[in-house]
Amino acid sequence: KLVMKVHGTVFEVNLDALTHNLNFYRNKIGSSTKIMVMVKAFAYGSGSTEVASWLQYHRVDYLAVAYTDEGVSLRQNGIKLPIMVLNAEPETFHKLFEYDLEPEIYSIKLLQAFLKFKQNAFPKTKKTIHLKIDTGMHRLGFIEQDLTELQGLLNQDLDLKVGSIFSHLVGADEAEHVSFSKSQIQKFTELSDRIIANLGYQPLRHICNSAGIIRYPEAKFDMVRLGIGLYGVESSGMEQNALEVVGTLKTTISQIKTLSAGDTVGYGRRGVIEKETKIATIAIGYADGFDRGFSRGAGKVMVNGVLCPVVGNVCMDMTMVDVTEAKCQEGDQVVIFGKSPTIFELSETIETIPYEILTSVSERVKRVFY
Ligand code: PLP
Repeated sequence: KLVMKVHGTVFEVNLDALTHNLNFYRNKIGSSTKIMVMVKAFAYGSGSTEVASWLQYHRVDYLAVAYTDEGVSLRQNGIKLPIMVLNAEPETFHKLFEYDLEPEIYSIKLLQAFLKFKQNAFPKTKKTIHLKIDTGMHRLGFIEQDLTELQGLLNQDLDLKVGSIFSHLVGADEAEHVSFSKSQIQKFTELSDRIIANLGYQPLRHICNSAGIIRYPEAKFDMVRLGIGLYGVESSGMEQNALEVVGTLKTTISQIKTLSAGDTVGYGRRGVIEKETKIATIAIGYADGFDRGFSRGAGKVMVNGVLCPVVGNVCMDMTMVDVTEAKCQEGDQVVIFGKSPTIFELSETIETIPYEILTSVSERVKRVFY
């Protein structure tokens, strides 16, 4: 295996780990349940085209993105898998037809707008849509009172095919929400049964995200929507050890200086030096996704096996760390997160979730796949 040493900040994506994690979830759901993978938000920071190509090679059934342009970009890069778009703005409806993308339809208003557009621009074209039901998230989705009108609208254009009916669990990751999740699953079953009875054909049904697959295997229906788990975070926390780390964010030491008591480091003189200290400037800042919340000792990075605290404030493109305890020289690699420190440690430090740490790694950071 070739692991490249790239100077500067890189986000290494281990494709074998990605495959391992995919297979873990595939084994959980069995061969009769399809798998849709969420590659929105730059594939959770891991590189949308590369990850999607890898998933296409591994024959997942569906991909999902948040916005139409994310789907367009995948098509332009040779991705042929069916792609669901979670939040297709009406201004982008023409691209759904041009690039064979399948919108999530979540309200009567959106369905009416979509039908009107289709009847004007693509009247005879067959089009697959996905119906989202709100079972308790109260974000997007049809509610029970919409069902009669929904049925009437679906009957207006028989070239419109419901590819799937789905909903989203609000708290599959946390044990405290078991009874609410079960009520969501029950409501989903009832409402989707009613829609299907009127459709006369059988669309796919899906409600489980990564944590749902683990916590509610009885609700895997026809398909699951795998997100963060693929990228190595078992969000229910029940089987984290079964997953492998996919992403490692690394940078290099640009310069090392020895400072004395009374010196200060960085903007606003926030890093106050109390005794002789070796300070390394590393080539990563908040514009790369290294949150400013890691300033002044909150964040620690790994330098040749030693955890070194941040000194002063994180800058836009650089950060200073105390490497007094680490054997290191300019040009050495520094791990921001990966096997250690873990993404969990980082997210706890700044009171966020691994999702945000991953999706915050900015696009200017090179992705390296191995
Ligand atoms: N389904 C929908 C509608 C989502 O918005 C998301 C992620 O935000 C997922 C599935 C995947 O969730 P997870 O990353 O927790 O697996």
